[in-house]
Amino acid sequence: MEQQKQDETEGKEECQLCRITYSIYSNFPPMPSAMALNAETGEWFPFDRLKSYSNGYEMAEALGYAWACDCRERSRNRFDEQFVLRDRKGRPFANARYRARVGLNVVASGVTDAAGRTQRISTKDARRLTLEISAGV
Ligand SMILES: [Zn+2]
Repeated sequence: MEQQKQDETEGKEECQLCRITYSIYSNFPPMPSAMALNAETGEWFPFDRLKSYSNGYEMAEALGYAWACDCRERSRNRFDEQFVLRDRKGRPFANARYRARVGLNVVASGVTDAAGRTQRISTKDARRLTLEISAGV
């Protein structure tokens, strides 16, 4: 009985990733000249911005690893899509090497299948996603 009660409570709490992230960055002293890196986009931003967020999830998002979070609904802000690559005549690029980039970071790479499909590509900001195709094999 006690155990069940506890489980219910934990389901509404933040996951370990969010909790730890928050406990780390909310306790940092101000560092006006320091920069932090978003691991997903490869972009730097002022480190002190992290302290302005009210929870660990927003911090993790800014740092580019919110995809590892377990306590938020991932699909809400997240773009997760499979692409079909086609040439100008609409024919699929079968067995084509591709790379998906967000900014300078390669977030996925592989070879399309016979129907020109990529693997599922998951990223926070689909507007910044770039697909590059190398010559077919
Ligand atoms: Zn979380």
